[in-house]
Amino acid sequence: MTSNRRVVLLAGDGIGPEVAGEALRVVDWLDRRRSVGFDLSEAQVGGAAYDATGHPLPDSTLEAARAADAVLLGAVGGPRWDSLDFSLRPERAILGLRKSLDLFANLRPAKVFDALSDASSLKADVLRGLDLMIIRELTGGIYFGEPRGVETLPDGTRRGVNTEVYTTPEIRRVGAVAFELARERQGKVHSVEKANVMESGGLWREEIQTLRDADYADVDLHHMYADNCAMQLVRDPHQFDVVVTSNLFGDLLSDISAQLTGSLGMLPSASLGAPGPGGTRAALYEPVHGSAPDIAGEGKANPIAMVLSLAMLLRHSLDQDEDAELIEQAVGNVLDRGLRTADILQPGFTAVSTEDMGRAICAELDRLAA
Ligand code: NAD
Repeated sequence: MTSNRRVVLLAGDGIGPEVAGEALRVVDWLDRRRSVGFDLSEAQVGGAAYDATGHPLPDSTLEAARAADAVLLGAVGGPRWDSLDFSLRPERAILGLRKSLDLFANLRPAKVFDALSDASSLKADVLRGLDLMIIRELTGGIYFGEPRGVETLPDGTRRGVNTEVYTTPEIRRVGAVAFELARERQGKVHSVEKANVMESGGLWREEIQTLRDADYADVDLHHMYADNCAMQLVRDPHQFDVVVTSNLFGDLLSDISAQLTGSLGMLPSASLGAPGPGGTRAALYEPVHGSAPDIAGEGKANPIAMVLSLAMLLRHSLDQDEDAELIEQAVGNVLDRGLRTADILQPGFTAVSTEDMGRAICAELDRLAA
């Protein structure tokens, strides 16, 4: 495993190490069969890091993440650490990584594998073959805007304030991520805001349109109000390819799109920073799910979200699209053969453990690469 591309694996807590173990199994497979093309090292994060060093994001981990081309993270958190001061809670490590690496674009694909198209609460024929990407602005907007706070008014009642703020550079840099990605996909972007009632939404719309006209005229751009987008996502999700939106709307819309695919255990994500001088950008890849303390240590966790996060890493940070596709194909084939971890198990299918699922994906990779 020698190369100048560096990847840091942060397994974390709960089911984090279990699903990370299956991603490592796939990395080993890549190393044996495809010459993996990156150096992989491991570092501590979350509650495990707190237990070992007194901090959920030790300096050594942050430095390793900063020096890497990409970070692959399992999950953090658990009841053991819930009584810690807020600043030392395992979940702070993720916020710390996002902030330190300036990860401003959150990518959440919603891809429905044929074998699971009837696992969602929506009708299978609305979902079959679905493949869309929600890009959420992650470091700006109402979650960070000033002024914010709660004040007591002279009459004794209280007033809570949060402020939606976006600037031209903040909008354009996340817009550029969406347009670039659309070029590699179906060439269509929906930009989502509430320009009808919010000035910041009006600015968002204008800036995205200006960026598109100047640099991405080949991409098909649509503007949509956020409330309509929520409705359209469940009515006819196939109309979307790439959706780009603010922090708040992205938080909501990505959870709706997650539900389209049926299970938390299937959902990967990426958070990207700005491209550096060499064209590479800071990037963190992680499953959408948390550390699932209710099933940790029982071999029940679905490793697919983590394995698909590795596939995203290969595609978006290492330009190894072919390997990413191979992994996604292997996952699809294993599901087609009826293997299911407990979270996606339905009557008539074969229940498998976390490790069995990882082994089956590697066996399928063997078959595909033969
Ligand atoms: P969770 O995602 O950990 O679990 C929610 C439910 O989904 C649980 O029933 C769990 O068993 C199930 N689940 C999740 N991932 C699964 C998988 N891969 N396979 C099978 N089932 C799976 O969310 P939660 O219970 O709200 O949070 C648990 C802990 O995780 C908390 O400490 C929380 O702060 C932390 N958390 C961490 C992250 C992260 O690391 N990015 C994200 C969310 C929550």
